[in-house]
This record gives sequence, C-alpha cells and structure tokens, in this order.
Amino acid sequence: MLYVQKFGGSSVADKERVLNVANRVAQTVSAGHKVVAVLSAQGDTTDDLLKKAREINSNPSKRELDMLLATGEQQSIALMSMALAAIGLPSVSLTGQQVGIHTSSSHGMARIRSIDTERINYELERSNIVIVAGFQGMDRYGDITTLGRGGSDTTAVALAAALNADLCEIYTDVEGVYTADPHIVKNSKKIDVISYDEMLDLASLGAKVLATRSVEMAKKYRVNLVVRSSMSRAEGTLVKEEAKVESTYVSGLAIDKDVASISVIGIKNEPGMAYKIFSALAKEKIVVDIILQSIGRGETKDISFTVNLGDLHKAMDLLQSNRQSLGFERVSYDDNIAKISVVGAGMATHSGVASMLFEALFSARINIMMISTSEIKISVLIDNKDTDAAANYVHEKFFSLPAR
Ligand code: ASP
Ligand code: MG
Repeated sequence: MLYVQKFGGSSVADKERVLNVANRVAQTVSAGHKVVAVLSAQGDTTDDLLKKAREINSNPSKRELDMLLATGEQQSIALMSMALAAIGLPSVSLTGQQVGIHTSSSHGMARIRSIDTERINYELERSNIVIVAGFQGMDRYGDITTLGRGGSDTTAVALAAALNADLCEIYTDVEGVYTADPHIVKNSKKIDVISYDEMLDLASLGAKVLATRSVEMAKKYRVNLVVRSSMSRAEGTLVKEEAKVESTYVSGLAIDKDVASISVIGIKNEPGMAYKIFSALAKEKIVVDIILQSIGRGETKDISFTVNLGDLHKAMDLLQSNRQSLGFERVSYDDNIAKISVVGAGMATHSGVASMLFEALFSARINIMMISTSEIKISVLIDNKDTDAAANYVHEKFFSLPAR
C-alpha cells in the first residue's frame, strides 16, 4: 500500500519528536508499505519567522515572506531524512519546487493547480522514503509560494490524490477529531467517523485540527483521511464520504479565537451601500462571515460583520481610506471576540438546537453579541475572555445527553 503520512509542527517540534516520527515511518515501511511523508515546520518556527520578518519590515512583500516561511519546512525534511538514515533507512527530502507542486501566484494563499508525480514515483521505485516539505509550491514563474496557515494538510491530501495513495494519515498532537477542541474542553470526546461535509463545517468554523482546504480537496478527490496522534497508538478519526449520523444530531463544536468584528457606522440608508462595501472587501480577498445590519441614527444604518483576525488591519485600512466614496460616517473594530459554533448535519431535522445553545450561554451568564444560523450550524460571537467557559458549558449541554 502507499501511505501519505503528514506530521504537523508539534509532531516534529524537537529532536526526540523527529526521531519518534522517523520510527513511526519505519514501522509503516517494515510492514511492507511505501511512504510519502509530508512535514510541517518544527513547533513555532512559522510564527517565529513571521515575527522576524515583521521586526525588519512591518509590511513585508508577500513574495519575500513566502521565500522566508518556506525555509521552516525545508529544515524539517532535511532533519527527517537524516533521522531516517541514522536508523538505516534510505530516504530523500524534496521541497515543493523539487516535487513540482504547481500553484497560483497568490503568495501566502496560493492554490495548488497540479502536481508532477514523476520524481516521487521514481524515488519510491528505488525504495526511498520520500519526504516532502508541506505548505509550499511554486508558481509559473518558478517563485516559491505558500498555501496559507495549516497548508501542510493540503499538501498531504493533494499528494494522496495525485499519487492515488491508499490512505492519507494526518498525525497531530491529539488523538483525532473531537466534539470540541480537547485543549479547551476536557470532556470532549473523540469522534470515530465523520463525513467530509461535517468536517468541512467544523474546519471552516475554526476547528484547527484540519485545514479547510485539505478537507475540500479530500472530498473532491475522495481521499480517505485519518486524523491520529503521533504520540500514541490510538486509532484516530476516519473522515470519509458517509458517516453514520443516526445517533447524533450535533457532531461538534468549533471554537474560533482568530476573529474580529468591524462596525461600519452611519451608512446612507439607500440601495447599493452594502454592495459597495462588501465588493470592496471581496476585491481584496477579505472573507466576511457573520453580517448584521441595524438601524442607525437619523437616516442612516449600521453594518457589523466579522473577518479573520489576520485580515482585520487590511479591512480597516481599506474602509478608512475609502470612507468618502463608500459613504459612511465612521468605522470601528473589536478584536477581543471569539466565535463558537455548533455543527451537525442532523440539526436540520431537530428543532430547539438554538434555544439549547442560548440556554447554555445564559446559564453561564455569557452575553451574545451576534448570532448567525444555517441549516447545519449556529454560530455566536462572544467576548474573548468567555471563550473557554462558553465552550465547556455548551459542550456539556449538547454532549452529556443520552444518545438518541
Ligand atoms: N508551517 C505552516 C504553519 O504553521 C504550515 C503547517 O504547519 O501546516 O501554518
Ligand atoms: Mg495544522
């Protein structure tokens, strides 16, 4: 069998963990399988590199940032190849460019367009373990690109699809996908099987265990994905087409602390204003989530919405510098907020999920700032400082129920 095994930053954080991963890969190989390992940068390397860049230039060019960030993964793969050699296993490390991972040119959020498989297949045929740098590729000019934070997951799934691998295993520091982030909610439970769609919702609403793009790609190419721990033998969570969902109507809770809200105040109360504002944001590829419009003073209205924390300054700059042409009085923001979402395919057929959520927050005396609902999810915005308490109360409410 051909395995693509991806090891995240925490799984390769230091010497011991690199050696541990080398041993896990060795076990798969000695069971008679071929392995393509995809690695992230060690521990906090990517954050440290970002910090380093900002110390030199508060607004570094995205091309140069990619050049810098890609070095994190390059360190990991070289070290892993050395670790494998030390236990007598032949391997070769390859950067995204060496593999031929072709991407768009949008630095910092590039999309994979195609992957050359010749080099990897050649190395596998020579019985080499192939170690690929996650998160990176090259655009049509040959420039280094990166795929956005958490992008190594996407590299792994894309490789599994391109190589027609039998399984794509994502190794991390928790034992799988949980009903809520186990770092925050101690009583959360591991989910054995989850569907692509539910996983997609959890990921896009802020569950950090898998990058959203990787789940989209797994769904599109029907890649069987397993999320499991590099530190234990536990079975992990299988992400696949159909999960048995009869017994649950809520599959999980997503907690997202990387959000901010923006309020545009005193917008002229006439048609086309929302269109103007949001198309300006869309042009800059700023993703807007929850939107709330309310009546302002006099002949005006106010619109509040949420963005990813990483886009906050870009959005604020854009709005402020176009205040006149967009026609509003002022704009403010709040970056001390968090979003908690309850997700579940079974929610569409169960009433009362919203009221249970609100009841849980009320019993914890937590104030709700904004609400948004769809058929399979409800999200609320709360004060950042209430996040952990809210997550625990809400989880208790939904997951201490007897199974239906
Ligand atoms: N090293 C990159 C990051 O920290 C990519 C990854 O870990 O998946 O976001
Ligand atoms: Mg990750």
